Amino acid sequence: MTDGALVCSACGAARPLADARWRCDCGGLLDVRWAGRLDPARLRNRPPNLWRYREALPIVDEAAIVTLGEGFTPLLDGRIADYAVQLKLDHLFPSGSYKDRGATVLVSAMRERGVRHAVEDSSGNAGCAIAAYCARAGIACEIYVPAATSPGKLAQIAAYGARLVRVPGDRQATAQAAWDAAQTAYYASHTWNPFFLQGTKTFAYEVAEQRGWRAPDAVVLPVGNGTLLLGAAIGFRELADAGLIDRIPRLVGVQAAACAPLAAAFRTGLAVPVPIVAGETAAEGIAIAAPARGAQILAAVRATSGTFLTVDEDEIAAAWCAMAAQGLYIEPTAAATIAGVEQFVRGMRSNEDVVSVLTGHGLKSAGKPVHAPAESA
Ligand SMILES: *Cc1c(COP(=O)(O)O)cnc(C)c1O
Ligand SMILES: [Zn+2]
Repeated sequence: MTDGALVCSACGAARPLADARWRCDCGGLLDVRWAGRLDPARLRNRPPNLWRYREALPIVDEAAIVTLGEGFTPLLDGRIADYAVQLKLDHLFPSGSYKDRGATVLVSAMRERGVRHAVEDSSGNAGCAIAAYCARAGIACEIYVPAATSPGKLAQIAAYGARLVRVPGDRQATAQAAWDAAQTAYYASHTWNPFFLQGTKTFAYEVAEQRGWRAPDAVVLPVGNGTLLLGAAIGFRELADAGLIDRIPRLVGVQAAACAPLAAAFRTGLAVPVPIVAGETAAEGIAIAAPARGAQILAAVRATSGTFLTVDEDEIAAAWCAMAAQGLYIEPTAAATIAGVEQFVRGMRSNEDVVSVLTGHGLKSAGKPVHAPAESA
Protein backbone atom coordinates (compact mmCIF):
# COMPACT_ATOMS: atom_id res chain seq x y z
CA MET A 1 0.00 0.00 0.00
CA THR A 2 1.12 3.52 -0.74
CA ASP A 3 2.77 5.44 2.05
CA GLY A 4 2.49 9.04 3.12
CA ALA A 5 3.38 11.60 5.76
CA LEU A 6 2.02 14.35 7.97
CA VAL A 7 3.69 17.58 6.84
CA CYS A 8 3.69 20.85 8.78
CA SER A 9 2.42 23.84 6.81
CA ALA A 10 4.48 26.20 9.00
CA CYS A 11 7.94 24.63 9.47
CA GLY A 12 7.85 21.89 6.82
CA ALA A 13 8.67 19.06 9.24
CA ALA A 14 7.41 15.66 8.06
CA ARG A 15 6.28 12.89 10.41
CA PRO A 16 5.02 9.36 9.82
CA LEU A 17 1.43 9.22 8.61
CA ALA A 18 0.71 6.62 11.30
CA ASP A 19 1.29 9.15 14.14
CA ALA A 20 -1.83 9.97 16.15
CA ARG A 21 -1.21 13.71 16.15
CA TRP A 22 -3.24 16.59 14.87
CA ARG A 23 -0.69 19.41 14.91
CA CYS A 24 3.05 19.95 14.67
CA ASP A 25 5.35 20.42 17.67
CA CYS A 26 5.84 24.00 16.42
CA GLY A 27 2.08 24.56 16.70
CA GLY A 28 1.61 24.61 12.93
CA LEU A 29 -1.22 23.05 10.93
CA LEU A 30 -0.52 19.64 9.43
CA ASP A 31 -1.37 18.47 5.93
CA VAL A 32 -1.53 14.87 4.73
CA ARG A 33 0.88 13.83 1.99
CA TRP A 34 -0.34 10.71 0.22
CA ALA A 35 0.95 9.21 -3.01
CA GLY A 36 -2.15 7.15 -3.79
CA ARG A 37 -4.08 8.36 -6.84
CA LEU A 38 -7.53 7.93 -8.26
CA ASP A 39 -7.61 5.54 -11.22
CA PRO A 40 -10.75 5.92 -13.40
CA ALA A 41 -10.21 2.45 -14.89
CA ARG A 42 -10.95 0.87 -11.51
CA LEU A 43 -14.18 2.74 -10.82
CA ARG A 44 -16.60 1.00 -13.15
CA ASN A 45 -17.75 -1.85 -10.92
CA ARG A 46 -17.55 -0.06 -7.62
CA PRO A 47 -20.57 0.99 -5.51
CA PRO A 48 -21.72 4.62 -5.82
CA ASN A 49 -20.16 5.99 -2.64
CA LEU A 50 -17.02 8.00 -1.98
CA TRP A 51 -14.93 4.97 -1.03
CA ARG A 52 -14.91 4.14 -4.75
CA TYR A 53 -11.86 6.45 -4.72
CA ARG A 54 -10.21 4.11 -2.21
CA GLU A 55 -6.64 4.39 -3.58
CA ALA A 56 -6.69 8.18 -3.23
CA LEU A 57 -7.84 8.12 0.40
CA PRO A 58 -5.04 7.85 3.00
CA ILE A 59 -6.34 4.86 4.97
CA VAL A 60 -3.89 1.97 4.75
CA ASP A 61 -5.84 -0.71 6.63
CA GLU A 62 -9.01 -1.69 4.74
CA ALA A 63 -10.52 -3.07 7.97
CA ALA A 64 -10.29 0.35 9.63
CA ILE A 65 -12.73 1.99 7.22
CA VAL A 66 -15.79 3.43 8.98
CA THR A 67 -18.57 3.98 6.46
CA LEU A 68 -22.30 4.63 6.34
CA GLY A 69 -22.44 4.23 2.55
CA GLU A 70 -21.91 7.99 2.06
CA GLY A 71 -21.13 10.01 -1.02
CA PHE A 72 -21.61 10.12 -4.77
CA THR A 73 -24.48 12.53 -4.16
CA PRO A 74 -26.61 13.53 -7.17
CA LEU A 75 -25.42 16.38 -9.39
CA LEU A 76 -28.71 18.05 -10.23
CA ASP A 77 -29.43 20.50 -13.05
CA GLY A 78 -30.83 23.54 -11.29
CA ARG A 79 -31.76 27.10 -12.24
CA ILE A 80 -30.58 30.09 -10.26
CA ALA A 81 -31.45 33.64 -11.37
CA ASP A 82 -32.30 32.11 -14.77
CA TYR A 83 -28.92 30.49 -15.29
CA ALA A 84 -28.35 26.75 -15.52
CA VAL A 85 -26.23 25.75 -12.53
CA GLN A 86 -25.37 22.21 -11.47
CA LEU A 87 -25.96 21.55 -7.77
CA LYS A 88 -24.32 18.80 -5.72
CA LEU A 89 -26.97 17.55 -3.32
CA ASP A 90 -24.67 17.18 -0.34
CA HIS A 91 -27.55 17.80 2.06
CA LEU A 92 -28.46 14.14 1.37
CA PHE A 93 -25.53 12.67 3.33
CA PRO A 94 -26.32 10.25 6.22
CA SER A 95 -26.05 12.93 8.91
CA GLY A 96 -27.60 15.61 6.70
CA SER A 97 -24.57 17.63 5.61
CA TYR A 98 -21.43 17.41 3.48
CA LYS A 99 -19.39 17.10 6.70
CA ASP A 100 -19.81 13.31 6.38
CA ARG A 101 -17.22 13.43 3.57
CA GLY A 102 -14.61 14.49 6.09
CA ALA A 103 -15.94 12.46 9.00
CA THR A 104 -15.84 9.08 7.24
CA VAL A 105 -12.13 9.52 6.42
CA LEU A 106 -11.15 11.16 9.73
CA VAL A 107 -12.91 8.58 11.92
CA SER A 108 -11.41 5.78 9.79
CA ALA A 109 -7.97 7.32 10.44
CA MET A 110 -8.84 7.43 14.15
CA ARG A 111 -9.78 3.74 14.18
CA GLU A 112 -6.59 2.93 12.29
CA ARG A 113 -4.58 4.71 15.01
CA GLY A 114 -6.40 3.04 17.90
CA VAL A 115 -8.02 6.27 19.11
CA ARG A 116 -10.62 5.47 21.79
CA HIS A 117 -11.69 8.93 22.90
CA ALA A 118 -12.06 12.05 20.77
CA VAL A 119 -13.21 15.65 21.12
CA GLU A 120 -14.55 18.00 18.47
CA ASP A 121 -16.02 21.50 18.43
CA SER A 122 -18.57 22.62 15.93
CA SER A 123 -21.33 25.05 15.15
CA GLY A 124 -23.44 21.92 14.68
CA ASN A 125 -23.02 19.85 11.56
CA ALA A 126 -19.41 18.76 12.01
CA GLY A 127 -20.42 17.63 15.49
CA CYS A 128 -23.32 15.64 14.02
CA ALA A 129 -21.02 14.01 11.47
CA ILE A 130 -18.21 13.13 13.89
CA ALA A 131 -20.77 11.83 16.44
CA ALA A 132 -22.42 9.65 13.77
CA TYR A 133 -19.20 8.05 12.57
CA CYS A 134 -17.85 7.64 16.12
CA ALA A 135 -21.11 5.83 16.94
CA ARG A 136 -20.57 3.56 13.94
CA ALA A 137 -16.96 2.94 15.04
CA GLY A 138 -17.64 2.52 18.77
CA ILE A 139 -15.36 5.45 19.67
CA ALA A 140 -16.34 7.71 22.60
CA CYS A 141 -16.64 11.38 21.68
CA GLU A 142 -17.38 14.72 23.25
CA ILE A 143 -18.82 17.46 21.06
CA TYR A 144 -18.46 21.11 22.10
CA VAL A 145 -21.06 23.46 20.61
CA PRO A 146 -22.04 27.10 21.06
CA ALA A 147 -25.06 27.26 23.39
CA ALA A 148 -27.11 28.96 20.62
CA THR A 149 -26.77 26.08 18.10
CA SER A 150 -30.00 24.91 16.37
CA PRO A 151 -31.91 22.55 18.71
CA GLY A 152 -32.29 19.98 15.93
CA LYS A 153 -28.51 19.61 15.64
CA LEU A 154 -28.12 19.28 19.42
CA ALA A 155 -30.79 16.55 19.55
CA GLN A 156 -29.07 14.75 16.67
CA ILE A 157 -25.62 14.82 18.34
CA ALA A 158 -27.09 13.54 21.61
CA ALA A 159 -29.04 10.80 19.82
CA TYR A 160 -25.80 9.36 18.43
CA GLY A 161 -24.60 8.93 22.02
CA ALA A 162 -21.97 11.67 22.04
CA ARG A 163 -21.43 13.71 25.18
CA LEU A 164 -22.68 17.20 24.36
CA VAL A 165 -20.95 20.18 25.94
CA ARG A 166 -22.79 23.48 25.40
CA VAL A 167 -20.44 26.45 25.73
CA PRO A 168 -21.79 29.94 26.49
CA GLY A 169 -20.44 32.75 24.31
CA ASP A 170 -19.37 32.79 20.69
CA ARG A 171 -17.93 30.15 18.37
CA GLN A 172 -14.41 31.10 19.45
CA ALA A 173 -15.23 30.33 23.10
CA THR A 174 -16.38 26.87 21.99
CA ALA A 175 -13.17 26.29 20.04
CA GLN A 176 -11.10 27.28 23.08
CA ALA A 177 -12.99 24.87 25.36
CA ALA A 178 -12.47 21.98 22.92
CA TRP A 179 -8.83 22.95 22.49
CA ASP A 180 -8.33 22.66 26.24
CA ALA A 181 -10.03 19.24 26.27
CA ALA A 182 -7.86 18.14 23.30
CA GLN A 183 -4.75 18.36 25.47
CA THR A 184 -5.76 14.93 26.85
CA ALA A 185 -7.89 13.45 24.02
CA TYR A 186 -7.57 13.11 20.25
CA TYR A 187 -8.77 16.27 18.52
CA ALA A 188 -11.17 15.17 15.77
CA SER A 189 -11.28 18.75 14.53
CA HIS A 190 -12.61 19.40 11.06
CA THR A 191 -10.41 22.50 10.93
CA TRP A 192 -7.15 21.30 12.49
CA ASN A 193 -7.20 17.61 11.63
CA PRO A 194 -5.86 17.17 8.08
CA PHE A 195 -7.64 13.84 7.48
CA PHE A 196 -10.92 15.75 7.26
CA LEU A 197 -9.75 17.52 4.09
CA GLN A 198 -8.75 14.17 2.61
CA GLY A 199 -12.43 13.31 2.80
CA THR A 200 -13.83 16.60 1.51
CA LYS A 201 -11.56 16.37 -1.54
CA THR A 202 -13.94 13.68 -2.84
CA PHE A 203 -16.34 16.53 -3.66
CA ALA A 204 -14.02 17.42 -6.57
CA TYR A 205 -13.62 13.78 -7.63
CA GLU A 206 -17.38 13.28 -7.78
CA VAL A 207 -18.02 16.51 -9.69
CA ALA A 208 -15.36 15.55 -12.23
CA GLU A 209 -16.52 11.94 -12.62
CA GLN A 210 -20.21 12.89 -12.87
CA ARG A 211 -19.34 15.39 -15.61
CA GLY A 212 -17.34 12.85 -17.60
CA TRP A 213 -13.98 14.21 -16.36
CA ARG A 214 -14.75 17.72 -17.56
CA ALA A 215 -14.04 20.43 -15.01
CA PRO A 216 -16.52 23.33 -14.74
CA ASP A 217 -15.36 26.95 -15.17
CA ALA A 218 -16.28 27.92 -11.63
CA VAL A 219 -17.30 26.22 -8.39
CA VAL A 220 -19.17 28.33 -5.83
CA LEU A 221 -18.72 27.10 -2.25
CA PRO A 222 -19.53 28.32 1.27
CA VAL A 223 -16.60 29.34 3.43
CA GLY A 224 -16.49 29.38 7.20
CA ASN A 225 -13.52 27.24 8.15
CA GLY A 226 -13.12 26.43 4.48
CA THR A 227 -13.09 22.65 4.83
CA LEU A 228 -15.14 22.07 1.68
CA LEU A 229 -13.27 24.72 -0.29
CA LEU A 230 -9.83 23.42 0.76
CA GLY A 231 -10.88 19.85 0.05
CA ALA A 232 -12.14 20.88 -3.39
CA ALA A 233 -8.84 22.69 -4.03
CA ILE A 234 -6.86 19.56 -3.12
CA GLY A 235 -9.11 17.31 -5.18
CA PHE A 236 -9.11 19.40 -8.37
CA ARG A 237 -5.34 19.92 -8.08
CA GLU A 238 -4.77 16.16 -7.80
CA LEU A 239 -7.02 15.49 -10.80
CA ALA A 240 -5.18 18.10 -12.87
CA ASP A 241 -1.77 16.75 -11.83
CA ALA A 242 -2.91 13.26 -12.87
CA GLY A 243 -4.05 14.61 -16.24
CA LEU A 244 -7.69 13.62 -15.59
CA ILE A 245 -9.00 17.18 -16.02
CA ASP A 246 -7.41 19.82 -18.23
CA ARG A 247 -7.84 22.84 -15.94
CA ILE A 248 -8.73 23.76 -12.38
CA PRO A 249 -12.02 25.62 -11.90
CA ARG A 250 -12.10 29.06 -10.32
CA LEU A 251 -13.03 28.62 -6.68
CA VAL A 252 -15.55 31.20 -5.47
CA GLY A 253 -15.96 31.44 -1.68
CA VAL A 254 -19.19 32.77 -0.17
CA GLN A 255 -19.29 34.35 3.29
CA ALA A 256 -22.11 35.96 5.27
CA ALA A 257 -21.65 39.75 5.22
CA ALA A 258 -22.06 39.69 9.02
CA CYS A 259 -18.97 37.47 9.36
CA ALA A 260 -16.58 37.83 6.44
CA PRO A 261 -12.94 37.88 7.61
CA LEU A 262 -11.70 36.17 4.44
CA ALA A 263 -13.68 38.23 1.95
CA ALA A 264 -12.27 41.35 3.65
CA ALA A 265 -8.71 40.02 3.49
CA PHE A 266 -9.15 39.03 -0.16
CA ARG A 267 -10.37 42.49 -1.13
CA THR A 268 -7.47 44.22 0.54
CA GLY A 269 -4.83 41.81 -0.74
CA LEU A 270 -3.95 40.36 2.66
CA ALA A 271 -2.58 36.84 3.13
CA VAL A 272 -4.33 36.21 6.45
CA PRO A 273 -7.90 36.77 7.68
CA VAL A 274 -8.82 40.26 8.88
CA PRO A 275 -9.71 40.43 12.61
CA ILE A 276 -13.43 41.19 12.78
CA VAL A 277 -16.27 41.54 15.23
CA ALA A 278 -18.89 39.08 13.95
CA GLY A 279 -22.52 40.13 13.67
CA GLU A 280 -25.60 37.91 13.77
CA THR A 281 -26.37 35.71 10.77
CA ALA A 282 -28.87 32.99 9.95
CA ALA A 283 -25.94 31.16 8.30
CA GLU A 284 -24.66 29.71 11.58
CA GLY A 285 -22.53 27.10 9.78
CA ILE A 286 -20.24 29.73 8.23
CA ALA A 287 -20.13 32.18 11.14
CA ILE A 288 -16.41 31.70 11.73
CA ALA A 289 -14.63 34.91 12.76
CA ALA A 290 -11.09 33.48 12.93
CA PRO A 291 -10.67 30.49 10.58
CA ALA A 292 -7.58 28.48 11.56
CA ARG A 293 -6.75 27.64 7.93
CA GLY A 294 -7.49 31.18 6.75
CA ALA A 295 -4.13 31.69 5.02
CA GLN A 296 -4.50 28.39 3.17
CA ILE A 297 -8.02 29.32 2.05
CA LEU A 298 -6.93 32.71 0.70
CA ALA A 299 -3.99 31.10 -1.12
CA ALA A 300 -6.22 28.41 -2.62
CA VAL A 301 -8.76 30.89 -3.95
CA ARG A 302 -6.04 33.15 -5.40
CA ALA A 303 -4.26 30.17 -7.00
CA THR A 304 -7.39 29.46 -9.06
CA SER A 305 -8.06 33.13 -9.96
CA GLY A 306 -11.19 32.78 -7.87
CA THR A 307 -12.86 35.35 -5.67
CA PHE A 308 -14.94 35.90 -2.53
CA LEU A 309 -18.52 37.15 -2.32
CA THR A 310 -20.54 38.28 0.68
CA VAL A 311 -24.28 37.88 1.09
CA ASP A 312 -26.58 39.74 3.48
CA GLU A 313 -29.44 38.32 5.54
CA ASP A 314 -32.16 39.31 3.05
CA GLU A 315 -30.29 37.61 0.22
CA ILE A 316 -29.92 34.45 2.33
CA ALA A 317 -33.64 34.38 3.14
CA ALA A 318 -34.59 35.01 -0.51
CA ALA A 319 -32.30 32.20 -1.71
CA TRP A 320 -33.75 29.84 0.90
CA CYS A 321 -37.28 30.59 -0.36
CA ALA A 322 -36.23 30.24 -4.00
CA MET A 323 -34.71 26.81 -3.37
CA ALA A 324 -37.72 25.57 -1.38
CA ALA A 325 -39.95 26.75 -4.24
CA GLN A 326 -37.99 24.34 -6.49
CA GLY A 327 -38.45 21.43 -4.06
CA LEU A 328 -35.07 21.75 -2.39
CA TYR A 329 -35.26 22.03 1.40
CA ILE A 330 -31.98 23.28 2.82
CA GLU A 331 -30.75 25.01 5.94
CA PRO A 332 -30.04 28.77 5.94
CA THR A 333 -26.27 28.24 5.84
CA ALA A 334 -26.68 26.31 2.60
CA ALA A 335 -28.94 29.08 1.28
CA ALA A 336 -26.09 31.56 1.79
CA THR A 337 -24.11 29.66 -0.86
CA ILE A 338 -27.02 29.90 -3.28
CA ALA A 339 -27.32 33.63 -2.62
CA GLY A 340 -23.64 33.78 -3.60
CA VAL A 341 -24.33 31.80 -6.78
CA GLU A 342 -27.03 34.32 -7.63
CA GLN A 343 -24.58 37.22 -7.29
CA PHE A 344 -21.95 35.34 -9.23
CA VAL A 345 -24.09 34.42 -12.24
CA ARG A 346 -25.56 37.93 -12.45
CA GLY A 347 -22.00 39.31 -12.61
CA MET A 348 -20.70 36.87 -15.25
CA ARG A 349 -19.53 38.39 -18.51
CA SER A 350 -19.64 35.19 -20.53
CA ASN A 351 -21.80 32.15 -19.96
CA GLU A 352 -19.64 30.21 -17.54
CA ASP A 353 -20.21 26.61 -16.61
CA VAL A 354 -20.99 26.80 -12.86
CA VAL A 355 -21.24 24.10 -10.20
CA SER A 356 -22.35 24.72 -6.62
CA VAL A 357 -23.57 22.70 -3.65
CA LEU A 358 -26.40 22.33 -1.16
CA THR A 359 -24.41 21.69 2.01
CA GLY A 360 -27.02 21.05 4.71
CA HIS A 361 -30.55 19.65 4.99
CA GLY A 362 -33.47 21.91 5.90
CA LEU A 363 -34.64 19.56 8.64
CA LYS A 364 -31.49 20.53 10.55
CA SER A 365 -32.82 23.97 11.26
CA ALA A 366 -36.54 23.25 11.48
CA GLY A 367 -36.50 24.90 14.92
CA LYS A 368 -35.20 28.14 13.41
CA PRO A 369 -37.67 29.17 10.69
CA VAL A 370 -36.47 31.41 7.91
CA HIS A 371 -38.58 34.47 7.25
CA ALA A 372 -38.88 35.80 3.76
CA PRO A 373 -37.50 39.31 3.34
CA ALA A 374 -40.11 42.02 2.97
CA GLU A 375 -41.36 42.21 -0.63
CA SER A 376 -40.01 45.19 -2.46
CA ALA A 377 -42.39 46.34 -5.17
C1 LIG B 1 -19.84 23.48 7.94
C2 LIG B 1 -20.83 23.96 6.97
C3 LIG B 1 -20.49 24.90 5.98
C4 LIG B 1 -19.15 25.55 5.87
O1 LIG B 1 -18.05 24.72 5.97
P1 LIG B 1 -16.65 25.29 6.41
O2 LIG B 1 -15.76 24.16 6.52
O3 LIG B 1 -16.85 25.95 7.74
O4 LIG B 1 -16.24 26.28 5.39
C5 LIG B 1 -21.45 25.23 5.06
N1 LIG B 1 -22.70 24.72 5.11
C6 LIG B 1 -23.05 23.85 6.05
C7 LIG B 1 -24.44 23.33 6.05
C8 LIG B 1 -22.14 23.42 7.00
O5 LIG B 1 -22.50 22.56 7.94
ZN1 LIG C 1 5.89 22.71 12.34
